[in-house]
Amino acid sequence: MQELYYKSASELAELLAGGELSSVELTQALIDRTKSVDEQVGAFNSFDEADALAQASASDERRASGDVLGPLDGIPVGLKDNLAVYGQPLTCSSKMLERFVSPYDATCIQKLKSTGAVLFGRLNLDEFAMGSSTENSAFGPTSNPWNLECVPGGSSGGSAAAVAAGEAVFALGSDTGGSIRQPASYCGVVGLKPTYGRVSRYGLAAFASSLDQIGPLARNVKDAASLLQAISGHDAFDSTSYKAEVPDFVASLESLKGRQWTLGLPKEYFAGVADSPALEPVRQAIEFYRGLGCEIKEVSLPHTEYAVATYYIVATAEASSNLARYDGIRYTHRAESFDAKDSVDIYCQSRAEGFGEEVKRRVILGTYVLSSGYYDAYYLKAQKVRTLIRQDFERVFREVDALLTPVAPEPAFRKGEKEDPLSMYLSDVFTISANLAGIPGLSLPCGYSGGLPVGLQILGKPFKEDEILAIGQEFETAHPFKDQHPKL
Ligand code: GLN
Repeated sequence: MQELYYKSASELAELLAGGELSSVELTQALIDRTKSVDEQVGAFNSFDEADALAQASASDERRASGDVLGPLDGIPVGLKDNLAVYGQPLTCSSKMLERFVSPYDATCIQKLKSTGAVLFGRLNLDEFAMGSSTENSAFGPTSNPWNLECVPGGSSGGSAAAVAAGEAVFALGSDTGGSIRQPASYCGVVGLKPTYGRVSRYGLAAFASSLDQIGPLARNVKDAASLLQAISGHDAFDSTSYKAEVPDFVASLESLKGRQWTLGLPKEYFAGVADSPALEPVRQAIEFYRGLGCEIKEVSLPHTEYAVATYYIVATAEASSNLARYDGIRYTHRAESFDAKDSVDIYCQSRAEGFGEEVKRRVILGTYVLSSGYYDAYYLKAQKVRTLIRQDFERVFREVDALLTPVAPEPAFRKGEKEDPLSMYLSDVFTISANLAGIPGLSLPCGYSGGLPVGLQILGKPFKEDEILAIGQEFETAHPFKDQHPKL
């Protein structure tokens, strides 16, 4: 029998509904699992056991009195430590916010609370979500549950590793350039970056506001759909959130099943990696769709080669502005043991002490590309190229329903292997364009290479998360990788 902590949210919902399990029992099982494996995995920055059990027991009381709030009621959800939860720490894995406690709830958290889900734990990330390995955390790295010598990917590495290791049923992450999809691929779980605007960013610690989106990491496509359902929708607190009906993502899995999709293979995504043995599972997944009768078409996204460079201008520019608020004066780390001449001295010293290397590198780069004299050459140029990248997608989406690509050029790499920041940046070559274009992307386990999971990326049209989820589920049903787990 499958352990409780490896069951999916939908299986658990049935056990809860049938009275075979209580939320307190379930939450306790996850707490016990976390206590037994997190020493090795390091997915959690912290968790509030008493608070989680109190939420679980409130859920059990609701159920006893017939007031169940929905299918997520009583099911624990892990949270990346850059989402604001009232009364809980919000560290962004930075020394800067080490002692900060959030005075309010993010919109996605409020929405989750209204579903009765049990909010459990603060999951590790690269500091301020800047990175691809969860090694850039002020509180130490997270390990990949499939091979503890390897990274879990990043920046939502804590969220992905927690789901893979059975420490969370599912979890929220954030994706600015690939931070949900790439760790999902490395850890063998499902990850979805929604369309820009689908989910309110209010209460997500801002990294690059025009790229950031919150999304689910889960054991299977259906769980990702139901978690996305819970957090989607317009929000007056985020003017970039989308004003329209949210489809029923779970119901669409059924209604869209079996369609003969036209699927594009962007040739630029396969150019350098076509023969890589690590991508054999991706090629097999493509053949699976061909075998289903889907039309597979080669397409071109000619501006792909500029995506990484464009991203590191736009993202760092926005980060330099967003991170200016951490000044040592208000709620952040304050440098104290030195002789400050004036307030500028306090800002400088506090920021020097509070931020890690990678964050500083980006603030400096971002400030540079926005400075007068360089603005036109870098920032403005990058914005123009960003438009060209978006237009590439608009053009191919007139011909195809979705695109199939690798998530990353390789499976999880070893810790310490990518010390050169540029080599780290390149692990996002296949995920970054979706953020620049604002389109949704799904990362789906599609096999293994050298004992490590490999993901397939399915990119969709704006606001067509229902379609990429349905396409993904078709593969998942035929290939139940979701039932395989790392040995811990
Ligand atoms: N790895 C990319 C970066 O370092 C993406 C991060 C993210 O999506 N938050 O910026």
